Amino acid sequence: IKSSRDFHPEDTIIKTPHSVIGGQHFTLMAGPDSIESPAHVEAMGKAVKAAGATVLRGGAFKPRTSPYSFQGNGEAGLKAHRAAADALEMDMVTEILDTRDVDLVDSYTDIFQVGTRNMQNFALLKALGKKQKPVVLKRGMSATIDDLLNAAEYIAAGGNDQIILMERGIRTYDNKYTRNTLDVSAIPVLQSLTHYPIVADASHAAGVSKFVTPLALAAVAAGAQGLMTEIHDDPAHAFVDGAQALTPDEFKLLADKIRQIREAI
Ligand code: PEP
Repeated sequence: IKSSRDFHPEDTIIKTPHSVIGGQHFTLMAGPDSIESPAHVEAMGKAVKAAGATVLRGGAFKPRTSPYSFQGNGEAGLKAHRAAADALEMDMVTEILDTRDVDLVDSYTDIFQVGTRNMQNFALLKALGKKQKPVVLKRGMSATIDDLLNAAEYIAAGGNDQIILMERGIRTYDNKYTRNTLDVSAIPVLQSLTHYPIVADASHAAGVSKFVTPLALAAVAAGAQGLMTEIHDDPAHAFVDGAQALTPDEFKLLADKIRQIREAI
């Protein structure tokens, strides 16, 4: 089993043009939920970079719960995202939904993102296994830890061992006050089982901006090697998921607190 610590005892360290992910390193990935416009993604990138982020996130292909919700700006979004990442000297991470888009997304991004809904899209995982490019694999919202590790194995089996596992909240019996339940315990458990970097997304777990910071800090205290966080300068008018977006100022405060926790642990 390639993802197992028995197979590879040392932490896997992944190097991208502007980041080192895994081991003792801590990587901040942040940006808007979706790419709204070239100027907006660049402004959000500037804000997160100033707070210490090295990876600019943003979706051009959005897997919305409703087919009538905004589905993303597609290739125009990829272009704007790439231009902002280049201008700011940041890495780009963006979600891929479909095997047919692998080459298109590959031509723009530094890191592929597989979302919670596609964690067990084995055709997509196999296609990404043939690429020599990092993949952020988000835990399926109803997936067990072993399901996540087996999904990672599909990528590794194809020859791509640049995998980053992301806890982003799971469905539990009480999802009235938060969108999902951040499974903090998954962070140290996964670190004991696999050598891949383990990062967390408190934005999608919380679904509500006021809970994002405490959950993100809990993930850092539990040993997460990175965080993905959504920001927006005008959350009420965000194209997608404004309710969970931190403002740039809130993100800066979070980043400062993360540094304090990292020094303490
Ligand atoms: C995202 O990060 O934009 C996203 C849709 O996340 P998830 O797959 O965790 O819902």
